[in-house]
Amino acid sequence: MSEPPFLPYGRQEIGEEDIDAVVEALRSPLITQGPQVARFEDAVCEYTGAAHAIAFSSGTAALHGAAAAAGWREGDTVLVPPLSFAASSNCSLYVGARPRFVDIDRATWNLDMVAASEQAADPDVKGVVAVSFAGLPADLDSLDAGDDVTVIEDAAHAIGASRDGRMVGGPGGADMTAFSFHPVKSMTTGEGGVVTTEDGDLARRLLRFRTHGIPPERDPGNPDGPWAYDMVDLGFNYRITDLQCALGVAQLGRLDGWVGRRNEIAARYGELLDGEDRIELPPDAPAGSRHGRHLHPIRVVAGAEARLASFNALRAANIGVQVHYIPIYRFHHYRETLGYPQDECPEAERYYAGAISLPMFPAMTDVDVERVVSELVASLG
Ligand SMILES: *Cc1c(COP(=O)(O)O)cnc(C)c1O
Repeated sequence: MSEPPFLPYGRQEIGEEDIDAVVEALRSPLITQGPQVARFEDAVCEYTGAAHAIAFSSGTAALHGAAAAAGWREGDTVLVPPLSFAASSNCSLYVGARPRFVDIDRATWNLDMVAASEQAADPDVKGVVAVSFAGLPADLDSLDAGDDVTVIEDAAHAIGASRDGRMVGGPGGADMTAFSFHPVKSMTTGEGGVVTTEDGDLARRLLRFRTHGIPPERDPGNPDGPWAYDMVDLGFNYRITDLQCALGVAQLGRLDGWVGRRNEIAARYGELLDGEDRIELPPDAPAGSRHGRHLHPIRVVAGAEARLASFNALRAANIGVQVHYIPIYRFHHYRETLGYPQDECPEAERYYAGAISLPMFPAMTDVDVERVVSELVASLG
């Protein structure tokens, strides 16, 4: 018998229109800092409804830019859930602030907004990074953070999602929203990210931060000469290329269809696993909201030992399951170097003990979904 094909947990969609768009950008005079960057940023604004979009070389760079634009620095505390990729809390470390892990909510697997609102009353707390885990928009309306706290939504999983009819990244959301376009995410630019905001001042800071702290405007009347420019604060080279942005524009045009298919796949998983009480399915989006369905994590209710057995059985069946995520405070750098406690987030630990991410990408067929479910159920013994 031949082996069944490998099913990864996620995979990008690249079509001829993407390839054509990148080739066309390659043939043009400017392959970075050219017209495609603004075109992509405008397309993201149009898609999300945001007033400003600033593209970066990665989602991590976007989060770093947002943390710097927020003005977080040494002595500041930033609340963040441990159930995320390390970049969600690393962005605070980059600017000298201290992330404080606040547990997840058992019902949403997102930041516990009651606990975060309580902790936000601490005068050292200057920020919150709310992660929209797996693509379920974080419930920002329930976060009571106060005026001097900057809220960043880490929406790396949530492009194309909406909350209460408002697009993630658009008006009525966080102060800044960061997206990632790594190939495993719901759309890709190869590597890349974007920050959206309604605030023109934050947008200007983000733009400067992306290019060494140099404002884009020139002063033709500068007495030095027309070449003169200034570097007003410390920034980086976090620019994205025109090649990547041409790909981004082509991808964004098809994103809605992909998110729709992701939601169909999630529904199929739900039907097939309905009544299987050894598995907890990921939370659905509330009525009026749209889930981004970047990931499809399930929880093996029996916990770590059963999870390991299922994980190994699925891998042996050529199904590329993953675990999202190891709680961030468990990593050496946080645990040993920074001395973070290991016992403050029991809900994240409970989730992590059972977590397995099942394959989820738009090109998956219903037959693929059935295969994953039958192997999963068989693995439960
Ligand atoms: C992928 C991801 C990031 C980082 O994005 P990159 O583009 O890989 O730098 C940040 N936060 C979350 C939750 C992510 O999944």
